[in-house]
Amino acid sequence: MKHSTLNKLLRGAGALLFISLITVPVLSVGAKSPKTAAAVPVPGRSSFDAIVTESEAWRGEMALKQEDAPALARAEEDFPHVWPVRFSENGYVSSFFGSRLDPVTEEVSEFHAGIDLADKPNTKIHAAASGTVTEAVDYGGYGLTILIDHGNGYETRYSHCNSLLVAEGDVVSQGQVIATMGATGRVTGVHCDFRVYLDGTAIDPLTVLDADGPG
Ligand SMILES: [Zn+2]
Repeated sequence: MKHSTLNKLLRGAGALLFISLITVPVLSVGAKSPKTAAAVPVPGRSSFDAIVTESEAWRGEMALKQEDAPALARAEEDFPHVWPVRFSENGYVSSFFGSRLDPVTEEVSEFHAGIDLADKPNTKIHAAASGTVTEAVDYGGYGLTILIDHGNGYETRYSHCNSLLVAEGDVVSQGQVIATMGATGRVTGVHCDFRVYLDGTAIDPLTVLDADGPG
């Protein structure tokens, strides 16, 4: 190899290294650990999880958000696309992913990193995808909570349950009943706080759940 060619290659490699040095920290900013924060909630300020009075037009909202959904194998059984609740006539999405008002102070409060699915007490809660139960515990403000690792970078979490029907280490199938809906933890009504994590970062569950809604 000629000396000048080698030089060019080395310079090219140097430029690549430089680019990755400046882009990697930028990319990793988004990967801060909401999962860690969520997994160990500070008692008293973990989640407001109030039930809002009016049912929201979630179908339109969902169609909007799914335009941004990553192109993924939605049919796969380890992909968390199955709604954790099959709504009765009383069921509705009581809170969406994003910033929201504190129901007590009516000021913009913390970021809500999941969606709240409200229905009757003891409504069955289903696993959104197959996986392994990594937590089945009382999480303080989040109440009785289940965390499932789907083995592909995705994890799902189900909070404020009335009872947990699986234990840590259990392997669950997609759609399996894993808990019943309750009001444990810091809540003002019966609902399931459902969260989806991709590589440790909470994402909007509506970007992965089936577009036809919770049945
Ligand atoms: Zn919630």
